Amino acid sequence: MLTPEETSRLKEALLEAERKLLQNAQVSLQLSRDRAADTGRDSIDLSISEEMLSTDLRLRDREKKLLSKIRGAVSRLEEGTIDECEDCGDPIGFKRLLARPVTTLCIHCKESREEQERREVEVVRAELEETALEE
Ligand SMILES: [Zn+2]
Repeated sequence: MLTPEETSRLKEALLEAERKLLQNAQVSLQLSRDRAADTGRDSIDLSISEEMLSTDLRLRDREKKLLSKIRGAVSRLEEGTIDECEDCGDPIGFKRLLARPVTTLCIHCKESREEQERREVEVVRAELEETALEE
């Protein structure tokens, strides 16, 4: 269990992360608008503006995901479940939460998931190499 002081520090960290994210989103939107304005109406290259638009959308998609992670963490914080590991139910620990407030896994589960992902990548790579040898 987190102490009330730890809880309020985490809440501050989450709100700060949310504020920064929204600020960055606004800056990037403004930057692409400025770039669009710089090209001038007569010389707008369609492919360039389409490329900018898709970059912009990708960026916003990533930000949206992070924002929903932050909001999920805030509601887990309010429910008092933020310190519970999603996989094993063990405490995640205040230090780890403060460093990565949106995490839902304790360090052991995080490491074993990463290990599993690495193994899966190796299996795919080995299969690819076998296929290459056959050809
Ligand atoms: Zn765990």
